[in-house]
Amino acid sequence: MSAHLMSTYNRLPVAFSHGQGAWLWDVDGRRYLDALSGIAVNTVGHAHPRLVAALRDQVGRLMHTSNLYRIPLQEQLAERLCALSGADAAFFCNSGLEANEAAIKLARLHGHRRGVERPRIVVFDDAFHGRSLATLSATGNPKVQKGFEPLVEGFVRLPLNDADALRAASADADIVAVLVEAIQGEGGIRPVQAEYFRLLRRVCDERGWLLIIDEVQCGTGRTGRWFAHQWAEVRPDAVALAKGLASGVPIGALLGWGAAAALFGPGQHGTTFGGNPLACRAALETLAIVDDEGLLDNARRVGGWMLEQLRQQLGALSAVLDVRGSGLMLGIELDRDCGALVGQALQAGLLINVTHDRVVRLLPPLILRQEEAEELVARLVPLIQRFVAA
Ligand SMILES: *Cc1c(COP(=O)(O)O)cnc(C)c1O
Repeated sequence: MSAHLMSTYNRLPVAFSHGQGAWLWDVDGRRYLDALSGIAVNTVGHAHPRLVAALRDQVGRLMHTSNLYRIPLQEQLAERLCALSGADAAFFCNSGLEANEAAIKLARLHGHRRGVERPRIVVFDDAFHGRSLATLSATGNPKVQKGFEPLVEGFVRLPLNDADALRAASADADIVAVLVEAIQGEGGIRPVQAEYFRLLRRVCDERGWLLIIDEVQCGTGRTGRWFAHQWAEVRPDAVALAKGLASGVPIGALLGWGAAAALFGPGQHGTTFGGNPLACRAALETLAIVDDEGLLDNARRVGGWMLEQLRQQLGALSAVLDVRGSGLMLGIELDRDCGALVGQALQAGLLINVTHDRVVRLLPPLILRQEEAEELVARLVPLIQRFVAA
């Protein structure tokens, strides 16, 4: 490990040299099945020939101009995302936290337009929205916040899926928006229940709040629909996207519906890199591949098969509390801390992650084939069986 890197990460002792599809090779030539995709980023897997060709072409043509000019690829990507989601307009940035930061600014602007001087946003226990000051303040994890106080004010935290708590909080006249992950990722693969989602929409309508959905991790086809909130059939006012949107080229996006799509005016928000031609080309090609290769259907089918297998093979163990998820976003919750499983899986040629201390998290690329899913389950199940027996 280089002494010249700030130690923001405890890194595993492995470095990869190249990848192909759902597989990575380390610098010593060992092969690993990638069940994490760089945390839900490599949507179309590694070195997808179509994405590689599109990026080569774009790099040779134009990588960056400026948002001071029109960017046709950005306009195309906005149109495509609006067509897929029903949104009216998009803002592009470079990461998940930036998409959420834009959403928080949007919510405050919405509040001030309505005469609320000190607007507040409802957020949830165990949420993760990023590591900028505003987004870590919105995050419901003390470990992310500790040492960075004073936190940004203006957030009201509630337990997720608790209708009574929401009703009680809604009396606060300073609340102007709700920010919620459709499925909590870092929080342990915890979905918003469909009924609670519809309640959120109802309360937002009644109170004039914006419903802002963080789909940075669960969006872009991961659950087998383009956007995870589409399963609950709720209409958002804004949706934040990032991770999987451009298969590894940094990008973030905030989609807006109706009045929320028209809140920002010139000079109120911006970014140098956001929505540059390279990132937008990567996103457009990613979306086209997802479409042409039927990857939504694949995520549903292969993910559904894995969920069922993991339930069948692990469900009887008393140490396995739950196996849950949607599409290719799966979590196995144990009754104990299980971070050690990550290194054991690495030894077994499998890349996984553990989040919320006790939840094994699987986020394989959406191109995962059935036989690769079988390989994944065959490598993972004995690891967990041995871990809980020890
Ligand atoms: C990863 C993540 C973020 C932060 O994204 P960055 O690109 O790391 O800034 C925000 N929200 C959710 C739900 C995430 O999973």
